[in-house]
Amino acid sequence: DRVSHLLRADRSKLYMADLESTLHYSLRVEAARASSLSGAQLAAFKCYVATLVKYFPGRPCVQTYLQTLDAWLRNWTEPELPRTVLKEAMKNNRDLALPASPVTPCPSVHQASHPSVLPTNVTWVGCQGSERHFRGYPCGLWTIFHLLTVQAAQNGPDKGTGVPGGIRGSGRECPAELWLGGSFHGAQETELGCGVAASALPLEVLSTMRCYVRHFFGCQECAEHFEAMAAKSMDRVASREEAILWLWSHHNEVNARLAGGDTEDPKFPKLQWPPPDLCPQCHKEERGVHAWEEPAVVTFLKAHFSPANIYMDYAE
Ligand code: FAD
Repeated sequence: DRVSHLLRADRSKLYMADLESTLHYSLRVEAARASSLSGAQLAAFKCYVATLVKYFPGRPCVQTYLQTLDAWLRNWTEPELPRTVLKEAMKNNRDLALPASPVTPCPSVHQASHPSVLPTNVTWVGCQGSERHFRGYPCGLWTIFHLLTVQAAQNGPDKGTGVPGGIRGSGRECPAELWLGGSFHGAQETELGCGVAASALPLEVLSTMRCYVRHFFGCQECAEHFEAMAAKSMDRVASREEAILWLWSHHNEVNARLAGGDTEDPKFPKLQWPPPDLCPQCHKEERGVHAWEEPAVVTFLKAHFSPANIYMDYAE
């Protein structure tokens, strides 16, 4: 229950239950709200799923689920995708024609083939709030995108240099698709869907996030704040490592803005993160003023948002 999760969650760990709950909610609830997806919104959705396939370090059954959905979306070439059709495509075990069940177990990693399952329950562990209306999904969404920026830097085709090429295409398909989706929200004709250049590989994850937030994030005011930050400086990100730091520093900007406000869970005050007890070496003082030791921050983020730091506690 809420209290025991709160007592047992460890702030230095990530929990698969939070990540899978976030994916379930974002894919099947938040992104499937409109009666149909088309244009830039459909492109943003395809891009989100394609990025998850590349970088989300999921359990085998969840990876199969994402790959199945991605392949299905790539085959969907009609301009409009009705919600009813999408919802059907996002059910579990679609590829195996088994009855969809929220309790289908994820098999052991030793099994050769894995059913395609993303659990349909929502369980918060590290993102559990002290009251129902605190934390949960927005906490999970930040966590997913931090994880993706770090995994892209660790495993992306260019490993942070900005040189295209590699395992699953050039990595350009997302911005290109977004471009084909056209401009929106008064964007310039010359600008790509989410304000990035097509060749901007270091921006792969950040532009996916920017598009996701713009088109789907349920908190409109949050989306506007995030877009304003992105419009100011996201296009200056020049490497995958800078992408990690951009998201970290802008998340801290949001934390500073929200500290002491009504959306703050009193049991989880908004901090400049990581606080000294999580990462003492991330902090320094310059002429009596607090400063970040950025190389130590990058090292910390790479370890914190790594598959080895994801715990299975409470995952179905
Ligand atoms: P969160 O801020 O959600 O952080 C989740 C976890 O990430 C933390 O528990 C911590 O482990 C880690 N973390 C914290 N800071 C960092 C960092 N700098 N870098 C890396 N990891 C970190 N709410 C509003 O009221 N107004 C807004 O304008 C607003 N804008 C938002 C924009 C976006 C894109 C998102 C995803 C959320 C936004 N929210 C906004 C929600 C808000 O930021 C929090 O997500 C929510 O209040 C829950 O806070 P939390 O305490 O769980 O921590």
